[in-house]
Amino acid sequence: MTQEKRMARCHCGAVEIEARGKPIAHIACYCDDCQAGSSAVGALAADGGTDYLVYREDRIATAKGGDLLEARKLKAGSATRRMVATCCGTPIFMDFADARHWVSLYSGRFAESVPPLEGRICVKYAPEPAALGGDVPLSEGYPARFMLQLLGARVAMLFGR
Ligand SMILES: [Zn+2]
Ligand SMILES: [Zn+2]
Repeated sequence: MTQEKRMARCHCGAVEIEARGKPIAHIACYCDDCQAGSSAVGALAADGGTDYLVYREDRIATAKGGDLLEARKLKAGSATRRMVATCCGTPIFMDFADARHWVSLYSGRFAESVPPLEGRICVKYAPEPAALGGDVPLSEGYPARFMLQLLGARVAMLFGR
């Protein structure tokens, strides 16, 4: 069985992050924190969203250039950090300095095809909620489905699957 595998790369190619298996979800988030954080590192889409491929953190490994990654935080005490490849200034992923079990990679970093977008979340914070495409489900906040996907991933990890 060949396992699904993707590489997230910075623009110059010095940093490569390997993501194994299926992502937990592919979502676009419009919350205030994502807007501010993505804007600061250059990962914000024109509609105010940030497009993420969310992976279990044990499925993510640095293939090369790990020493080039630098954490950016909106506030010094914040657990949320955005990792930027300092070689060429490319934002690579967002994660948390605490015990949370998932990593949100900016989906534009993958050259390989990615699963289709599953939903837009926290859309009530979008600059123009009414202008967002109805191609995928829109959620005002964090939808139960997404929370269950995150929980399901945690349970699978606990049981070593
Ligand atoms: Zn680079
Ligand atoms: Zn968000």
